[in-house]
Amino acid sequence: MEETRDFIRQIIDEDVKQGRYGGRVHTRFPPEPNAYLHIGHAKSILLNYRIAQEYGGKFNLRFDDTNPQKESAEYAEAIKEDLRWLGADWEDREFYASDYFEQLYVWAEKLIEKGKAYVCDLSPEEISETRGKAIRDGDRVITPPGTDSPYRERSVEENLELFRNMRAGEYADGAKTLRAKIDMAHPNLNMRDPVMYRILHAAHYRTGDAWCIYPTYDWAHGQCDAIEGITHSICSLEFENHRPLYDWFLEQLGVHHARQIEFARLNLTHTVMSKRLLLRLVREGHTDRWDDPRMPTLIAMRRRGYTPEAIADFMNRVGVSKSESVVEHALLEHCVRQDLNLRAPRRLAVLDPLRVVITNYPEGQEEMFDAINNPEDPAAGTRKVPFSRELYIEREDFMEDPPKKYFRLAPGREVRLRYAYFIRCEEVVKTPDGRITELRCSYDPTTRGGDAPDGRKVKATLHWVSARHAVCGVARLYEHLFGVENPLKVEEGQDWIDNVNPEALVTVPDCMLEPSLAEVEPGQRFQFERKGYFCVDPDSRPGAPVFNRTATLRDTWQKLRARNAT
Ligand code: ATP
Ligand code: MG
Repeated sequence: MEETRDFIRQIIDEDVKQGRYGGRVHTRFPPEPNAYLHIGHAKSILLNYRIAQEYGGKFNLRFDDTNPQKESAEYAEAIKEDLRWLGADWEDREFYASDYFEQLYVWAEKLIEKGKAYVCDLSPEEISETRGKAIRDGDRVITPPGTDSPYRERSVEENLELFRNMRAGEYADGAKTLRAKIDMAHPNLNMRDPVMYRILHAAHYRTGDAWCIYPTYDWAHGQCDAIEGITHSICSLEFENHRPLYDWFLEQLGVHHARQIEFARLNLTHTVMSKRLLLRLVREGHTDRWDDPRMPTLIAMRRRGYTPEAIADFMNRVGVSKSESVVEHALLEHCVRQDLNLRAPRRLAVLDPLRVVITNYPEGQEEMFDAINNPEDPAAGTRKVPFSRELYIEREDFMEDPPKKYFRLAPGREVRLRYAYFIRCEEVVKTPDGRITELRCSYDPTTRGGDAPDGRKVKATLHWVSARHAVCGVARLYEHLFGVENPLKVEEGQDWIDNVNPEALVTVPDCMLEPSLAEVEPGQRFQFERKGYFCVDPDSRPGAPVFNRTATLRDTWQKLRARNAT
């Protein structure tokens, strides 16, 4: 089958065919180190990285670190860790906009000399007022012209002197800016004499106190691509109306000019994905830091048990396009389930234990059963699971008065214990106030291994753990961070933060786990049979493991798809 190329690859195919940029392909991922990365960033990373790979080109990691007040080495390190995890290897191609501050400064002087930039004394508020804004006129959006700054006609000499004084630290923060001299009536607001430099007496995490003027993102971005010889500057749609400005800067400077290609950001239901919003969740304590498994950050998804392969598969299925859309969170879960199904070893774990005593099983006796580690992977082999007179089963696997379609254990009914025997419930033991504390059951020794020689059938197979051998652990179960599909859709006067689901985390303290789960390492993943995929949390202690549920076994994506198909 012929593969259909997405629009970005079609553009690059054509560039390569035409021999533009000498047939080279060189991409980059340009994060600002001011927060942890989220799953949306993974889209950009994988897209840029894969394209470089596919065309035999290069891939740069470039920190666009032009804003000292919000950036830190901690964030930069975390970003690198995320790229490593995703497998986007930038080799030694690690760059920093802050390494180009001198070059950017030199280029700014060049624009001043050409009469294309000027020092302006207007305050940020005055600048934004005089630039004007877009207004709605019926169905149209119009942008009435702005007004020129009174400082616009300063001479080249005066501008050069003032700009050098700015660099030398002679003015207070915000007292002056350097602005490009373009067109205050331009229909694109970004072209109305945008700010190139602002005064900020703030230490930068890399350049320290070397600078007290900092380039704006608009002034830095295109030139950074130029310095690195980037051929295809792939970015999200919000940069589309900045492109004319980038083009203008590069033309004025007469330097290498990457082709910018915009694509629609990834949006997901039931979560938010902008750094600003994620910062608020963390700062106000709605989640427990950036790596809280409820967060859509990569560090959190890793802790939750997501695999980079599942994320890559997800991005493939979502594809790239020019039009905004919102992807079902269920698709992401579907992808991790598919991946873990193939490789997560199965284990028996009872999350809500109910004691079962097998009355006809000799006290003190125990035996071992062979349990299959992974039915999808015969090479994963088997392990031994101990069986004894007292067991735990899942409380929800028993009903005293079962409705019609309930086939699990009930008084007088027989079920299979996975890998072991058929058992029949003979008696229910309760506290005076009616809470069930124990089931007394009998077992049929002829059903050893799970089948009856007389051919009789049971309708349910339950997981279980031997009480004497059980390891006690904690399970953390997660729901969507937001109960609603679009948390940002709120009524006037309402706050989106109120859509946070307070029950998105349920901690289950006394789970009973098969003994092989006593010794586990953080990051190890398992399927607890019938309960879902779980990943060992770093909070685990020897003999006291903590597990995060990555995903349940229920595939809501399949259901959604089936519903949409009919
Ligand atoms: P946010 O808007 O989420 O706060 P950002 O765009 O400010 O993030 P940057 O560090 O500037 O964060 O992002 C680095 C790159 O990641 C940018 O090129 C941006 O286009 C891309 N990116 C950010 N969010 C998404 C997303 N949801 N889907 C795809 N790409 C994204
Ligand atoms: Mg951005």
